[in-house]
Amino acid sequence: MAVARQFHGPIDLHAHSSVSDGTETPAELVRAAAAAGLGTIALTDHDSTAGWPEASAAAEVEHMTLIPGMEFSTRVQYASVHLLAYLFDPADSALLAELTRVRAARFTRAEQMVARIGADYDLSWDDVLAQTTPEATVGRPHIADALVARGHALNRSAAFAGILHWKAGYYQPHYAPDPLRAIQLVRAAGGVPVIAHPATRGIDDIVAESRLKTLVEAGLFGLELAHRENKPEPTARLYELAAKFGLVVTGSSDYHGTGKPNRLGENTTAPEVLERIIAEGRGSAPIYG
Ligand code: AMP
Ligand code: FE
Ligand code: FE
Ligand code: ZN
Repeated sequence: MAVARQFHGPIDLHAHSSVSDGTETPAELVRAAAAAGLGTIALTDHDSTAGWPEASAAAEVEHMTLIPGMEFSTRVQYASVHLLAYLFDPADSALLAELTRVRAARFTRAEQMVARIGADYDLSWDDVLAQTTPEATVGRPHIADALVARGHALNRSAAFAGILHWKAGYYQPHYAPDPLRAIQLVRAAGGVPVIAHPATRGIDDIVAESRLKTLVEAGLFGLELAHRENKPEPTARLYELAAKFGLVVTGSSDYHGTGKPNRLGENTTAPEVLERIIAEGRGSAPIYG
């Protein structure tokens, strides 16, 4: 009789590699997670699954559990909303088409932002390309790295607080689907959708009860409430709404290597919650290394 494979703890369900805006390769990320004492890590690059094969191989070597995932860029008017998606089919054609569209929009938007910044600062598109790998999902963090390399900012955080802040006038949004459509796409691909850091703004903007109810009806499975960027007051309210709607609550680091202060394992997810996520995911399987 087949024995159900068991995952290892502690569990961190949100981390980035160089496939998006993390500073470590997928294999290095898995090794860093093992070194940090974690047993399970989810690879959740922005709008891409390109790191899954490399991370899976590393998880086998390191005896780590890998949850294949992604952080899907979505948008409500001018506000960007991040949707974590786990255990979906990476070959689902509708989802792939949308991800291709989002990554292309991100690329064009970054080029346009750099052209505008380049009018005032010594910065070229080649400077940005030098900070990305060919397959990477391009974002402001890569522009930040180029600004740092050119001496216009001390580090990523300083670049975000200065030239890349929307108040500086260079910021530009990019196309991204509505969260409702993103949840439908993830569910149709067999995945499990969880809203990332939902309490970074005021409660009434993005996750008002009425909007949340619509998202739950479309298949939203959880909220990432243990995350350093969530604010206390909306977080407390969202714990109540999670209980009311039967949503799971996750915790994670949102590790970006040296690109952000977030440390692996600084927030974790309960084993019972991961059990429910695994039971719900039908598009791909965890790697039980
Ligand atoms: P973008 O999606 O291109 O607008 O860039 C947003 C991304 O930048 C987010 O995914 C964050 O991971 C990253 N980010 C936001 N603020 C900071 C910061 N202060 N320092 C480093 N990375 C940041
Ligand atoms: Fe990021
Ligand atoms: Fe995010
Ligand atoms: Zn993230």
